[in-house]
Amino acid sequence: MIDNELLPTEGPGRKDMLELYSWDLETACRVQNEWEDNNGAGRGPLFRWIGAEELKGLYETYKEKKNPALIIEVLHICSLNSLPLPRWCEMGFLKAYRKVRQYRAKSWDDVFGRPHKKGTHLETKRQEREKPHLVYRRIEEIRKNEPLTAIDGDLFERVGKELGIGAKTLTESYYYKELKFRKPHQCRRCEKRFAYWHEINKDGLCHSCEDKERAHNKNGQ
Ligand SMILES: [Zn+2]
Repeated sequence: MIDNELLPTEGPGRKDMLELYSWDLETACRVQNEWEDNNGAGRGPLFRWIGAEELKGLYETYKEKKNPALIIEVLHICSLNSLPLPRWCEMGFLKAYRKVRQYRAKSWDDVFGRPHKKGTHLETKRQEREKPHLVYRRIEEIRKNEPLTAIDGDLFERVGKELGIGAKTLTESYYYKELKFRKPHQCRRCEKRFAYWHEINKDGLCHSCEDKERAHNKNGQ
Protein backbone atom coordinates (compact mmCIF):
# COMPACT_ATOMS: atom_id res chain seq x y z
CA MET A 1 0.00 0.00 0.00
CA ILE A 2 1.29 3.42 -0.95
CA ASP A 3 1.58 6.00 1.83
CA ASN A 4 -1.01 8.71 1.27
CA GLU A 5 1.65 11.39 1.76
CA LEU A 6 3.44 10.14 -1.36
CA LEU A 7 0.42 10.85 -3.52
CA PRO A 8 -0.84 14.22 -4.65
CA THR A 9 -4.01 15.58 -3.07
CA GLU A 10 -7.26 14.15 -4.53
CA GLY A 11 -7.70 15.31 -8.11
CA PRO A 12 -5.81 15.17 -11.39
CA GLY A 13 -2.52 13.34 -11.27
CA ARG A 14 -3.36 11.04 -8.37
CA LYS A 15 -4.38 8.08 -10.52
CA ASP A 16 -1.32 8.62 -12.70
CA MET A 17 0.97 8.43 -9.65
CA LEU A 18 -0.79 5.34 -8.26
CA GLU A 19 -0.13 3.64 -11.57
CA LEU A 20 3.56 4.65 -11.66
CA TYR A 21 4.03 3.41 -8.08
CA SER A 22 2.55 0.03 -9.03
CA TRP A 23 5.16 -0.67 -11.72
CA ASP A 24 8.43 -2.55 -11.44
CA LEU A 25 11.46 -1.88 -13.68
CA GLU A 26 10.34 -4.47 -16.22
CA THR A 27 6.89 -2.89 -16.58
CA ALA A 28 8.44 0.59 -16.85
CA CYS A 29 10.71 -0.59 -19.69
CA ARG A 30 7.85 -2.26 -21.53
CA VAL A 31 5.64 0.85 -21.29
CA GLN A 32 8.61 2.99 -22.38
CA ASN A 33 9.05 0.85 -25.52
CA GLU A 34 5.36 1.10 -26.38
CA TRP A 35 5.50 4.84 -25.83
CA GLU A 36 8.54 5.15 -28.13
CA ASP A 37 6.83 3.03 -30.82
CA ASN A 38 3.92 5.47 -30.72
CA ASN A 39 6.26 8.48 -30.90
CA GLY A 40 5.14 9.56 -27.44
CA ALA A 41 5.55 13.20 -26.49
CA GLY A 42 6.83 14.67 -23.22
CA ARG A 43 8.85 12.83 -20.61
CA GLY A 44 9.09 9.07 -21.20
CA PRO A 45 7.30 6.69 -18.79
CA LEU A 46 10.57 5.00 -17.76
CA PHE A 47 12.04 8.30 -16.57
CA ARG A 48 8.81 9.28 -14.83
CA TRP A 49 8.91 5.91 -13.06
CA ILE A 50 12.54 6.44 -12.01
CA GLY A 51 11.53 9.89 -10.70
CA ALA A 52 8.64 8.36 -8.72
CA GLU A 53 11.02 5.81 -7.17
CA GLU A 54 13.34 8.67 -6.17
CA LEU A 55 10.39 10.42 -4.52
CA LYS A 56 9.83 7.34 -2.34
CA GLY A 57 13.46 7.46 -1.16
CA LEU A 58 13.33 11.19 -0.44
CA TYR A 59 10.15 10.78 1.59
CA GLU A 60 11.78 8.06 3.72
CA THR A 61 14.67 10.43 4.46
CA TYR A 62 12.28 13.31 5.17
CA LYS A 63 10.32 11.23 7.69
CA GLU A 64 13.53 10.72 9.65
CA LYS A 65 15.19 14.11 9.34
CA LYS A 66 12.52 16.67 8.34
CA ASN A 67 15.21 18.48 6.38
CA PRO A 68 13.43 21.18 4.32
CA ALA A 69 16.21 21.08 1.69
CA LEU A 70 14.58 17.83 0.55
CA ILE A 71 11.56 19.84 -0.59
CA ILE A 72 13.78 21.57 -3.16
CA GLU A 73 15.04 18.17 -4.34
CA VAL A 74 11.46 17.00 -4.81
CA LEU A 75 10.56 20.16 -6.74
CA HIS A 76 13.47 19.39 -9.04
CA ILE A 77 12.48 15.75 -9.62
CA CYS A 78 8.83 16.65 -10.18
CA SER A 79 9.71 19.48 -12.60
CA LEU A 80 12.14 17.31 -14.52
CA ASN A 81 9.75 14.38 -14.91
CA SER A 82 6.39 16.20 -15.10
CA LEU A 83 5.17 14.57 -11.89
CA PRO A 84 2.54 16.03 -9.57
CA LEU A 85 3.77 17.06 -6.10
CA PRO A 86 3.41 14.50 -3.33
CA ARG A 87 1.24 15.74 -0.47
CA TRP A 88 4.05 15.95 2.08
CA CYS A 89 6.02 18.21 -0.25
CA GLU A 90 3.02 20.38 -1.13
CA MET A 91 2.40 21.00 2.57
CA GLY A 92 6.07 21.55 3.38
CA PHE A 93 6.55 23.95 0.49
CA LEU A 94 3.48 26.03 1.38
CA LYS A 95 4.61 26.27 4.99
CA ALA A 96 8.09 27.46 4.04
CA TYR A 97 6.80 29.82 1.33
CA ARG A 98 4.35 31.49 3.68
CA LYS A 99 7.02 32.02 6.32
CA VAL A 100 8.94 34.18 3.84
CA ARG A 101 5.93 35.87 2.25
CA GLN A 102 4.40 36.69 5.66
CA TYR A 103 7.64 38.27 6.93
CA ARG A 104 8.41 35.57 9.47
CA ALA A 105 11.61 34.56 7.65
CA LYS A 106 14.06 36.78 5.82
CA SER A 107 15.20 34.65 2.91
CA TRP A 108 14.69 31.35 1.11
CA ASP A 109 17.88 30.09 2.72
CA ASP A 110 16.27 30.61 6.14
CA VAL A 111 13.45 28.22 5.29
CA PHE A 112 15.11 25.74 2.92
CA GLY A 113 18.70 25.90 4.18
CA ARG A 114 21.78 27.07 2.28
CA PRO A 115 22.22 25.33 -1.09
CA HIS A 116 26.00 25.29 -0.62
CA LYS A 117 28.02 24.92 2.56
CA LYS A 118 29.43 28.12 4.01
CA GLY A 119 32.82 28.91 2.46
CA THR A 120 32.19 26.82 -0.66
CA HIS A 121 34.48 27.96 -3.43
CA LEU A 122 32.14 28.09 -6.45
CA GLU A 123 34.90 28.34 -9.04
CA THR A 124 36.64 25.20 -7.73
CA LYS A 125 33.39 23.28 -7.43
CA ARG A 126 32.36 24.27 -10.93
CA GLN A 127 35.71 23.16 -12.32
CA GLU A 128 35.39 19.78 -10.52
CA ARG A 129 31.98 19.39 -12.10
CA GLU A 130 32.74 20.48 -15.65
CA LYS A 131 36.36 19.61 -16.36
CA PRO A 132 36.18 15.78 -16.15
CA HIS A 133 33.69 15.82 -19.00
CA LEU A 134 35.83 18.21 -21.09
CA VAL A 135 39.01 16.19 -20.48
CA TYR A 136 37.27 12.98 -21.50
CA ARG A 137 35.82 14.52 -24.65
CA ARG A 138 39.12 16.08 -25.69
CA ILE A 139 41.02 12.81 -25.17
CA GLU A 140 38.42 10.88 -27.20
CA GLU A 141 38.78 13.49 -29.95
CA ILE A 142 42.59 13.33 -29.97
CA ARG A 143 42.55 9.52 -30.08
CA LYS A 144 40.12 9.58 -32.96
CA ASN A 145 42.30 11.94 -35.00
CA GLU A 146 45.58 10.42 -33.86
CA PRO A 147 44.80 6.76 -33.15
CA LEU A 148 48.37 5.94 -32.12
CA THR A 149 48.31 8.36 -29.18
CA ALA A 150 48.83 6.51 -25.89
CA ILE A 151 46.86 7.44 -22.78
CA ASP A 152 49.82 8.45 -20.68
CA GLY A 153 51.43 11.32 -18.81
CA ASP A 154 52.30 13.21 -22.00
CA LEU A 155 48.69 13.17 -23.16
CA PHE A 156 47.40 14.32 -19.76
CA GLU A 157 49.96 17.09 -19.71
CA ARG A 158 48.96 18.24 -23.20
CA VAL A 159 45.23 18.19 -22.46
CA GLY A 160 45.71 19.73 -19.03
CA LYS A 161 47.54 22.64 -20.65
CA GLU A 162 44.90 23.07 -23.35
CA LEU A 163 42.06 23.17 -20.88
CA GLY A 164 43.85 25.34 -18.35
CA ILE A 165 43.89 22.68 -15.65
CA GLY A 166 47.65 22.77 -15.36
CA ALA A 167 48.67 19.78 -13.23
CA LYS A 168 48.78 16.59 -15.26
CA THR A 169 47.87 14.36 -12.28
CA LEU A 170 44.71 16.40 -11.75
CA THR A 171 43.90 16.04 -15.47
CA GLU A 172 44.49 12.30 -15.17
CA SER A 173 42.19 11.98 -12.16
CA TYR A 174 39.48 13.93 -14.03
CA TYR A 175 39.82 11.57 -16.99
CA TYR A 176 39.42 8.42 -14.89
CA LYS A 177 36.58 9.91 -12.91
CA GLU A 178 34.64 10.55 -16.10
CA LEU A 179 35.60 7.18 -17.58
CA LYS A 180 34.27 5.41 -14.50
CA PHE A 181 31.07 7.40 -14.74
CA ARG A 182 30.56 6.74 -18.45
CA LYS A 183 31.84 3.20 -18.51
CA PRO A 184 31.19 1.77 -15.09
CA HIS A 185 31.72 -1.92 -16.02
CA GLN A 186 35.28 -3.10 -15.94
CA CYS A 187 36.79 -6.39 -17.13
CA ARG A 188 38.81 -7.93 -14.31
CA ARG A 189 41.47 -9.27 -16.69
CA CYS A 190 42.28 -6.56 -19.27
CA GLU A 191 40.80 -3.80 -17.05
CA LYS A 192 39.08 -2.18 -20.05
CA ARG A 193 35.90 -0.33 -19.18
CA PHE A 194 32.52 -0.77 -20.87
CA ALA A 195 29.35 1.28 -20.89
CA TYR A 196 26.95 -1.67 -20.53
CA TRP A 197 26.71 -4.46 -17.98
CA HIS A 198 26.04 -7.05 -20.70
CA GLU A 199 29.53 -6.48 -22.10
CA ILE A 200 30.94 -8.24 -19.04
CA ASN A 201 30.03 -11.90 -18.40
CA LYS A 202 29.15 -13.39 -15.02
CA ASP A 203 32.83 -14.18 -14.37
CA GLY A 204 33.70 -10.52 -14.77
CA LEU A 205 35.36 -10.87 -18.19
CA CYS A 206 34.79 -8.92 -21.39
CA HIS A 207 33.92 -10.83 -24.59
CA SER A 208 37.45 -10.69 -25.93
CA CYS A 209 38.97 -12.03 -22.69
CA GLU A 210 36.22 -14.65 -22.55
CA ASP A 211 37.18 -15.83 -26.05
CA LYS A 212 40.86 -15.90 -25.11
CA GLU A 213 40.10 -17.93 -22.00
CA ARG A 214 37.99 -20.37 -24.00
CA ALA A 215 40.79 -20.84 -26.58
CA HIS A 216 43.29 -21.28 -23.77
CA ASN A 217 41.16 -23.96 -22.06
CA LYS A 218 40.74 -25.78 -25.34
CA ASN A 219 44.50 -25.88 -25.95
CA GLY A 220 45.09 -27.11 -22.43
CA GLN A 221 42.86 -30.12 -22.85
ZN1 LIG B 1 38.94 -8.10 -20.88
